[in-house]
Amino acid sequence: MNVLKFGGTSVGSVANMHMVKDIIVDGKVKIVVLSAMSGTTNALVEICRLAVSNQLEKARFYVSNLHHDYKNVVDEMFEESALKKEVSNYVSLIFQELESLILMPSAFLFYNTMVSKGELLSTFIFTCFLKSQHVNVRLLPALAFMRIDKDGEPDAFYIKQNLERLIDGGLPATIYITQGFICLNNTGDISNLERGGSDYSATIIGAALGASEVQIWTDIDGLHTNDPRFVTDTHAISNLSFDEAAELAYFGAKILHPQTVMPAQRANIPVRLKNTMCPESYGTLINSNASEKGIKAIAAKDAITAIKIKSARMLQSYGFLKKVFEIFEKYETSIDMITTSEIAISLTVDRTHFLTAIVLELEQFSTVEIDQDQSIVCLVGNQIVKHKDTFRFFQILQDISVRMISYGGSNNNISILVHSQDKIKTLQLLNTYVFRRVNVS
Ligand code: ADP
Ligand code: ASP
Ligand code: MG
Repeated sequence: MNVLKFGGTSVGSVANMHMVKDIIVDGKVKIVVLSAMSGTTNALVEICRLAVSNQLEKARFYVSNLHHDYKNVVDEMFEESALKKEVSNYVSLIFQELESLILMPSAFLFYNTMVSKGELLSTFIFTCFLKSQHVNVRLLPALAFMRIDKDGEPDAFYIKQNLERLIDGGLPATIYITQGFICLNNTGDISNLERGGSDYSATIIGAALGASEVQIWTDIDGLHTNDPRFVTDTHAISNLSFDEAAELAYFGAKILHPQTVMPAQRANIPVRLKNTMCPESYGTLINSNASEKGIKAIAAKDAITAIKIKSARMLQSYGFLKKVFEIFEKYETSIDMITTSEIAISLTVDRTHFLTAIVLELEQFSTVEIDQDQSIVCLVGNQIVKHKDTFRFFQILQDISVRMISYGGSNNNISILVHSQDKIKTLQLLNTYVFRRVNVS
């Protein structure tokens, strides 16, 4: 069985939902994971912000605008029928809930409950749409099986057990639809897999069911050589290894949620990236095959904080690094990049929830400097550290002020840290140097 995930744009309009239907209705049994319609989660996040900052009128106005958009979708998708009535009632119910929720922005789980509504809406509407097209479809509520543990990791045993029970316990269907993104946490409260998390839902489900393949259908024909939002001459990469794809996802290639690859890699399930608007194009296949040697792609991750920790006592002090790492471990803050000299360490983090506490503890034995608004730009591929083209990467140093370099830590990643205002220029220059093989003297 395959698991197919469709992103926000793929279910973002009635026309696109028709395309999704054409892709999935082929007589084969499958699980279809849907995101919210494009723009919905962003709108819900903004409504939360307005409600929390006491701008109730504006929040209400946004809720009513969103409701209006959904009424139009339902009108466009369904002929007058009992099914249409059922969908309209469901949509009205969700919007009544949103209207009540915004009156209590400090309520427990306010944000998580609000942002869960996008996926609940898209899956209900799409399931009924397939019913109207006489497809044998069943909706599997993600909250009945998708759960994370106390560390935020998928609870694989619980998920497998409950998902199989859910599938086997109801009428057999050809297409099972479920919500991406949303889940329960270890205490049974509503939670989510963080923004873009539907990709992750798909590979978690794929691993739980031992799927033959997980397909991520989106608005572009696969994972590109560079970020197409900032660089013009990019193209899709046909094959990537799990390791390469995991690095690219983690280091900012937005097409994949950062954690997506892990469940598929562990279960050795190929992941295929496909374009809903152009299903005939090959896309990108991610699997365990060792890919060709050399540089495959460039990606960037924003909102990075660099921390320089300087200690005179580091000189011949064996325990300094240990002390530093213990503080980051205590605050469950993972480090992305690290460089050291004899008297200082520079490192980067992307979670800053506990930054003040971390700095306070570090200052007990060192001086600390913080640089915010940094971006990690990285080159990913196979055996790139030894590859002959890699030296071109260092041409960047003459044009951009580079704060840190990480080279040699792994064979498939070289990273630099730049100020975020230099990110786009860095991506473009690297594209020129590395892929267009331009030498600058
Ligand atoms: P979805 O809503 O389907 O989950 P996303 O917007 O999350 O889609 O991801 C697809 C987008 O990711 C593309 O439209 C593209 O702008 C962006 N993107 C960023 N980096 C890359 C990359 N290296 N390859 C492909 N797309 C990328
Ligand atoms: N709807 C969620 C978001 O916008 C999850 C997803 O799209 O994957 O982040
Ligand atoms: Mg996405």
